[in-house]
Amino acid sequence: MTDQKTIVWFRQDLRLRDNPALTHAVTQGQIIPVFILDEDAPEAAQLGGASQWWLHHSLQSLRTSLNNQLIIRRGSPLVILTELIDQFSADAVCWNRLYEPWQRQRDENIKTTLKSRGVEAKSFNGSLLWEPMTVLKKDDTPYKVFTPYYRRGCLSRMPPRFPVAKPETITFAEAINEDETALNALNLLPSIPWYRDIEAQWQPGEDGASQRLQRFVRTAAERYKDDRNIPAVKGTSLLSPHLHFGEMSPNQVWYAIHGTFGNAFDHPHTDVYLSELGWREFSYYLLFHWPDLQHKNFNAKFDRFPWRTDQADLEAWQQGRTGIPIVDAGMRELYQTGYMHNRVRMVVGSFLVKNLLIDWRHGERWFWDTLVDADMASNAASWQWVAGSGADASPYFRIFNPVLQGERFDTDGDYVKQYCPELQQLPKKYIHKPWQAPAEVLAACGIELGRNYPQPMVDLKVTRQRALEAFAQVKSTT
Ligand code: FAD
Repeated sequence: MTDQKTIVWFRQDLRLRDNPALTHAVTQGQIIPVFILDEDAPEAAQLGGASQWWLHHSLQSLRTSLNNQLIIRRGSPLVILTELIDQFSADAVCWNRLYEPWQRQRDENIKTTLKSRGVEAKSFNGSLLWEPMTVLKKDDTPYKVFTPYYRRGCLSRMPPRFPVAKPETITFAEAINEDETALNALNLLPSIPWYRDIEAQWQPGEDGASQRLQRFVRTAAERYKDDRNIPAVKGTSLLSPHLHFGEMSPNQVWYAIHGTFGNAFDHPHTDVYLSELGWREFSYYLLFHWPDLQHKNFNAKFDRFPWRTDQADLEAWQQGRTGIPIVDAGMRELYQTGYMHNRVRMVVGSFLVKNLLIDWRHGERWFWDTLVDADMASNAASWQWVAGSGADASPYFRIFNPVLQGERFDTDGDYVKQYCPELQQLPKKYIHKPWQAPAEVLAACGIELGRNYPQPMVDLKVTRQRALEAFAQVKSTT
C-alpha cells in the first residue's frame, strides 16, 4: 500500500462489494468517497421521478455502509472534483466506467483535464460483463444481431471478470461525517409522497439487492424459463433497478447463478436467465456503438413512419384507461410500483406503437419518468425492439393481440384483477375482453362500461390493419 489519497467517485456503482474502483483506491491508501448529482446532464438524461426516489434511498444506504463518510454534492463534476482535490490534497481520482454517450464524453474531458494537472485519473469496468469496445466482428464492425453477439462475440471469447470482495478495511483521508443535509439538499424526494406504494415493494441499496438475488436463486431461478412470462407470478429476479444503480454488478449475479447451479448453461432455466443478462449487455453495446439510440430510429426507414399525434390517446394509455384490461393493468402496475413485468412491457409497448400508432419515443419518455429501473440503454433498445425500428427487433408486422396475450399469460386474470379491481367479479371468460360480456353478466359484476371501466378505446382488428398499412408505406420507401 502507498500513502496515496484517492477520490472515489461513485456514480452508478452504489456498492462496496465487487467495486473495482473502490478496491483499487483502498489498496493505494486513503480514500475520499464522493457522489455528485450532475447538474449539467442533458435534459433527456435527467432522472425521472421514480429514479430520483430510488437514488435518494440508495445513497442513504451507501452512506451508512461508508460510516457516514460519503461526500454528497450537486453541480458540475469537474468543478466539484477539482475543489475536493484541492481541499484534501488528493493525488488521484478513480471511478467505474459508464456507457451513456453524454457520460462518456464528460468522463473523457475530466480525465484529460485531471491528467493535465498532474492528478492521476483511472477508470475501471464495474457494470458490464463485456465492455462494448472489446466486442467486434471479424471485420472490426459492431454486431447488430443478438445471438451472434452474445454467443460468438461474448461467451466464446472470454468469461466475465470474477467479482472482487468487499474491502476488509477502508481508511478515509479525513473524518467527513456530513449529516443528511447534503443528501436532502439533492431534493430527490417529491413534496407529494406519491411513492408510498413503491416504498412498500422495494428496498434500494446493496442489502436489498443481495436479498433479491438470494430469493431468486433459492426460489425462482429453477423455474425461470416457464414462470418469467406469467405476470401474476414473481418468477423473475426483480434485480433491474439494483443493476441500474450498480447496487449489484452483473458479475455478482452471473457467478451466483453459476455457483449455485454448476454449469448454468446446461440448465435450461438458468441458461435463459443468463441470456437475459446478455440482453442487458447488448443494449449497452448498441447505445455505445449507436449513441443516438435513445432519439433516432436505428432503422432509418422508420424516419418516415406516419405516427399519429393524439395527446388524449397518449394520456389514456399512460393512465391505464384504454379499456383493454392487460394494457391498463400494466400501466397501473407501472404507476403504482415503479415497475412493470417484461411480458406486459412488450404488450403495452406494442399497443402504443401499433394499435395507437404513437411514436415509440413517447413511450420511452413515460417509462423513463415512471420506472425505478429506467435505464437509457435498456429502455431505448427495448422500445426500438418493440417498435420494429431497432437492431434485431421484433418485426413490425408481428403485432401483439393484447386479448390473446392476456389469455395466454394471465389465464385466470389474476394480474388484471390485482391492478384493475373494478373487474374483480368478471368471469375468467371475459376478463381480457369485458366488451364481449353480455349485459346481464356485466351488471351482475357491477361493471358499467364507459362509467366504472372504459369501453375499449380502439377496435383491435381495425387498428391492427391500420398499423400494417402504415408499415407497408415505410417498407416500400427506399
Ligand atoms: P429478469 O427477467 O430477472 O432479468 C434479469 C436481468 O436481465 C434484468 O434485471 C435486466 O437487467 C436484464 N434484462 C432482462 N430482460 C431484458 C431486456 N429485454 N433488455 C435488457 N435487459 C434485460 N429494463 C431495464 O432495466 N430498464 C428499462 O428502462 C427497461 N425498459 C424497457 C422498456 C420496454 C418497452 C421493454 C419491453 C423492456 C424494458 N426493459 C428495461 C427490459 C425488461 O423489461 C426489464 O429489464 C425486466 O423486466 C426487469 O425485471 P427483472 O429484473 O425481474 O428481469
